[in-house]
Amino acid sequence: MDPRSRTSNGMAVAKQTCRKWARLEKGYPYSYGVNNPIGNIDFMGLAVTTYSCSPSQTANILAAAGKAEAAAKTCIPCEDREDFKKHIRNLLVFCSKHNESLEGESICGEQTGDWDITLTPQGIDESSGCGCLQSTILHEVLHQIGYGHSGAKNAFAMEKKCFKCSGL
Ligand SMILES: [Zn+2]
Repeated sequence: MDPRSRTSNGMAVAKQTCRKWARLEKGYPYSYGVNNPIGNIDFMGLAVTTYSCSPSQTANILAAAGKAEAAAKTCIPCEDREDFKKHIRNLLVFCSKHNESLEGESICGEQTGDWDITLTPQGIDESSGCGCLQSTILHEVLHQIGYGHSGAKNAFAMEKKCFKCSGL
C-alpha cells in the first residue's frame, strides 16, 4: 500500500478504498478492513467504505456520513447514540446503478445488512424527493439499529427531527 495514504486527505483515501472494493465483484467479500484497516479511515475518523461508487459519489457519501454522525450525537435518543456511532463509523455503502429496489420500487436507499446499506443514484444526488444525502444515510443506519417506519423508533420521524433538509 502506498504509505502516503496515511497522511493523504479523505478524497485520496476514498478513491483508494473505492478501488479496493472492486475485489468484491471477483469474490472476496470479506477481505476489506481486515487486510488493511488504515485504507478505510477518512479524515473525519469514520471508516465508511464504499463499493461500486464513483470518486465523486464516494466524496459525497463520506461528507454526508460525517454530517449524519455529527447530527446523531444530539438529535437521536441518548440510548441509541453509541450504537448508531458504531454502525455509521463502520459503514459499508454500495452504490447501485438503478433507482429501483429488487421489488421495483423507486427508492433513495436501502438497508441491506447489519453493516451495509445501498444508495441509489437519486439518493446520492439528492433528487426525486430523496432529501439530503445525510438524511438518507441516517435513515438507513437507523434501520441497522432497530428502527422501523412506525412506532416509537421511526426512522422517518428521526430523519425529520435531525435534518431540515430531509425533505419530509
Ligand atoms: Zn426505511
